Amino acid sequence: MRNNKAAASAVRSVTVLGATGSIGDSTMDLLRGARDRYRVEALTANGNVEALAKLAKEFGARFAAIGDPAKLAALKDALAGTRIECGAGESAIIEAAARPADWVMAAVSGAAGLKPALAAVDRGASVALANKECLVCAGDFFMERAKKAGACILPADSEHNALFQALGSGNREELVRVIITASGGPFRTWAPADIEQATLEQALKHPNWSMGQKITIDSASMMNKGLEVIEASYLFALSPDEIDVLVHPQSIIHGMVEFSDRSVMAQLGTPDMRIPIAHCLGWPDRIVGPSARLDLAKIGQLTFEVPDFARFPGLRLAYEALRTGKGATTVFNAANEVAVAAFIAGKIKFGAIARLVEATMNDWIRTGNRSPLQSADDAISVDHVARNRAAALLPQIALKAT
Ligand code: NAD
Ligand code: MG
Repeated sequence: MRNNKAAASAVRSVTVLGATGSIGDSTMDLLRGARDRYRVEALTANGNVEALAKLAKEFGARFAAIGDPAKLAALKDALAGTRIECGAGESAIIEAAARPADWVMAAVSGAAGLKPALAAVDRGASVALANKECLVCAGDFFMERAKKAGACILPADSEHNALFQALGSGNREELVRVIITASGGPFRTWAPADIEQATLEQALKHPNWSMGQKITIDSASMMNKGLEVIEASYLFALSPDEIDVLVHPQSIIHGMVEFSDRSVMAQLGTPDMRIPIAHCLGWPDRIVGPSARLDLAKIGQLTFEVPDFARFPGLRLAYEALRTGKGATTVFNAANEVAVAAFIAGKIKFGAIARLVEATMNDWIRTGNRSPLQSADDAISVDHVARNRAAALLPQIALKAT
C-alpha cells in the first residue's frame, strides 16, 4: 500500500466541462464535499443558463461558458453583480478547457466534446475522461497527443476506471486480456421483435444506473458497450482480441484484468458514478467518497452471461469498426449519434439504430478515403461526412420493414 499522505494538502484548481449533466452533477457533488481541497476555475454547459449560473455562483468559479451563442446575454444577466467572467459558443467552451486548471472533467456528451478535451490535453492537464465519444472519434491520435503534452488521462467511465485500477497489478507483457462488464440494459432478456419495437420511455429505464439521455439509450442498445470496447482499446493500447465483454446484471464488478499466471484482478463497487469520479479526483491519492458502501452479503448473488451479439448488433459493429480502423470508429460513433437523435425524435424504431450504423459504416468502407486520422480537423471532417451519410440513409432505413 502506498504511503504518501503529504500530497493531499495543496488546493487544486478544477474545471468541469458539461457541469450541468449527469456526470457534471456527480462531480459537483464531490467538489461540494471537499471545498477546502478544490477551487473551481471554469464551468460549462450547453443551454441551461440558469443551472450553469447557479453552480458558478455557488462554487465561485472564475469563468462560465455556455455552448449556445444565443444565450450570452442571458448568462451575463444571470451573473450580473459577480466577478465571474463568461463567454458563449464553442470557442468559449474551448477557452474554459484551456484556462489553467490542474484537473479537468471532460463530461460533454458526444463528439462535440473533442475540441474542448484536446484543449485541456494540450496544456498537459490531468483530464478525467467521461466523454467516451470524443476518444472513440479521435482514438487514432488522442492518447499520443496526451503523451506528447504530458497530460494524464484518468478514465472516469466506470469500466475503464476499474481496468485502470486493476492494470496496476501487473506489466503489459503479463496481461492476457481485460474484461469489461455490462448490465445488459433494460432489454437484456427481451425477444428480438420486442427490442425492435421498444419505445423511448422503455429505453430510458435503465435497471441500475442513472445517467444522461444519450448514454441511457446507448446502454439499452448496448452501443454503449461497443463504444466502451473501442474506448478501452485506445486508452490502454489493446487489440480487439484482448478485450472481452461480460454481461453482469448487478453492475457490481465493473472491470477485470487477467494476467499470465491466471490471476484475475477485479474492481467492485456500488453502481454510483461518484466512485470512479472520486478516484479520478483524488488520483494519485484517494479521497473520502460519499457513496454507499458495498454490502455483498446483502446483494447475495453476482451473475454473469455471455453477451448476445445477434440481439445487440451494436457490439458486433464496434468490434468491426475497431478492426477496420482508420476512421471507422469515428464513423461508428457519428452514425450512432445521428441514429439516437432520430430515435428520440420518433423518426426510426429502436431496432433501426444498429441498422443505420451498419449501413453508414458499410457505405463509408465502400466509398471512403481511409487513412489514419492525425488531427482534430481530420476527425471532425470524417465525423461530418459520416453524419451526412447517416442522414441521407435515414429515410430508407426508417421505411425498411423487419
Ligand atoms: P448529459 O447529457 O447528462 O450531460 C452532458 C453535458 O454536456 C451537459 O452539461 C450539457 O449541457 C453539455 N453539452 C451537451 N452537448 C454540448 C455541446 N454541443 N456543447 C457544449 N456542451 C454540451 O450526459 P452525461 O450522462 O453526463 O454524459 C456525459 C459523457 O459522459 C458522455 O460522453 C457519456 O457517454 C459519458 N459517461 C456518462 C456516464 C453517466 O453515468 N452519466 C457514465 C460513463 C460515461
Ligand atoms: Mg461505462
